[in-house]
Amino acid sequence: MRYLVIGDIHANLHALDAVLAAAQPIGFDHTLVLGDLVGYGAYPNEVIDRLHDLGSLSAVRGNHDKVAAGLEEPEEFTTVAREGAAWTASALTKAHKAFLTALPRGPVAISESLEICHGTPYDEDEYVLDSLDALRALRGCSRPRCFYAHTHVPAVYSLHSGALGYLETASNNALTLEPGITYLVNVGSVGQPRDGDPRAAFGLLDTDAGTVRVHRVPYDVAGAQAAIRAAGLPEPLAARLARGR
Ligand code: ZN
Repeated sequence: MRYLVIGDIHANLHALDAVLAAAQPIGFDHTLVLGDLVGYGAYPNEVIDRLHDLGSLSAVRGNHDKVAAGLEEPEEFTTVAREGAAWTASALTKAHKAFLTALPRGPVAISESLEICHGTPYDEDEYVLDSLDALRALRGCSRPRCFYAHTHVPAVYSLHSGALGYLETASNNALTLEPGITYLVNVGSVGQPRDGDPRAAFGLLDTDAGTVRVHRVPYDVAGAQAAIRAAGLPEPLAARLARGR
């Protein structure tokens, strides 16, 4: 089975379209969406429509999806994020809000050996920011392949006989996922990368080959920025896309 893995799209239609254009010729059977479909960007309804068009899809909700759907107050949000969330909530149609409301809390089991979550398997809102966080998250995994998002930074951690490992995700390398080892994988953010590389990030998991690959693809950053400004969203949300921070 080949999975397209995408997360933290954040209503960036330009980035999502570039990802789909890059992934579709390679091919995939099913899409895994790791939450934060909306928030920050100017195309919340259109991004949900695109995902709908993909058909075979499993998704979990992110913190921005919960706030946009009205399930949660943006208490932990910065002022800019709060303004973005208020704009998103007013821009979403009733049907798109209902779609976000129905998204399940992670972790969600995809198969016997694969699960997806937004933050960590033990708490959907927690961040994996360092190796201690990664160890705690790995110990919370119920399956040997766990994909997460939320930090907007690609990272692959492993746990084998109690020892934590870290795999480099750079330059579209195919990483081999060994049997008997638990992996915690972040394929980066589609719509708001924060690792200093402004290109959109996505993952391709091939469970037959036992590999995962983090891809980076350039997209129309200027177009996404122009849409954010035209929508009246806060300027920092446009500016940061060019820096990938
Ligand atoms: Zn996010």
